[in-house]
Amino acid sequence: MTHHNVLSLTEQLIAMPSVSRDSNVAITDFIERLLTAAHWQTERTEYIDDNGERKANLVAKLGTGQGGLAFCSHSDTVPGQEQDWEAFVPQVRDGRLYGRGSCDMKGPLAATLVAVLSVDPAALTQPLYIIVTADEELGLLGAKHLVAHSALLQASRPTYGIIAEPTSLAPVYSHKGFGRIFATATGKSAHSSTGLGVSALLKTAPFLNDLHAIADLLEQDKTFHNEMYTPPTQTLNAMIETEPTAINVTAERATVRVSFRPMPDSRSPEIHQLIIDSAEAHGLDVTENYIAPLFCPITADLVQAAVSICGRQPTTVSFGTDGNYLKNVIEQLVVLGPGSIAVAHTVGEYVPVAELEEAVTIYTRLINHFC
Ligand SMILES: [Zn+2]
Repeated sequence: MTHHNVLSLTEQLIAMPSVSRDSNVAITDFIERLLTAAHWQTERTEYIDDNGERKANLVAKLGTGQGGLAFCSHSDTVPGQEQDWEAFVPQVRDGRLYGRGSCDMKGPLAATLVAVLSVDPAALTQPLYIIVTADEELGLLGAKHLVAHSALLQASRPTYGIIAEPTSLAPVYSHKGFGRIFATATGKSAHSSTGLGVSALLKTAPFLNDLHAIADLLEQDKTFHNEMYTPPTQTLNAMIETEPTAINVTAERATVRVSFRPMPDSRSPEIHQLIIDSAEAHGLDVTENYIAPLFCPITADLVQAAVSICGRQPTTVSFGTDGNYLKNVIEQLVVLGPGSIAVAHTVGEYVPVAELEEAVTIYTRLINHFC
């Protein structure tokens, strides 16, 4: 059996750039080879993204039958910002491993790989899975594709799933979802000196007025809050894009882009509909998407096992994960991984080496418990 070291494997993955705007095929090939060399069964679902780049999701399985335990990660990262640091040259200093993706989430991914590769296949009573998606940083596009196209996941239906995103090794049983409403007004473009134009932007004004009232309502009315989260609110955000942008031309198109973060038991579907209804009542064209929050009851056996194995209390986070889609094929999901989300996406992103090593121990115990 091959023995892998979590630090050196993370360094290898960091040195293999996989920024979301580029293809992730090379890193996916590398991970797939590690697993097939250990006799895992693998399946890929692939697609070509909007920029013509080839993207790959990977599902790997050890053992047979349904159920079992899955470890879920994404292989893409945010851009390296290489002008400010050596993002793709991993460096260890003061017990920390620095590099783009060290905590989000090549370190966590490496910890899951080292844990599963140390398992004796003959001792397994339930199947084990590794899931690695593309384009998590671009709105969970890879996970969405995977859930729709993976025959292996549809047939296997893992019972338990660990999303290895950085939580400083605290078990996270719930995170917020994401509501998105784009409302577009159409006007008529003309040189503003002619008086012949119709401003699309001004047509959005009544909707913005409603939105302002809805935002206030969400902050003030406690029935839209959930005290399990920090902050306990749905944090509505709005942006406007106009075309064209010159000051002396009337806007042909104006799109108000609204987002908020749904929580369980907080009337979130109602809010989503309220925003859509307002936009439509004011004659705007709407496209929308609603991703429900992730939630696993604290009493579920996965949360209970994670809490007792980690020795840390269950908690919630406000960021989203692939769990928003993976919950359609995996019964219970907990987010649990090394590193802090506070340094993810930053220049100087790092993961504490001790947490990487502790993660391997925790994942190994979870495997022994469930498989
Ligand atoms: Zn991530």
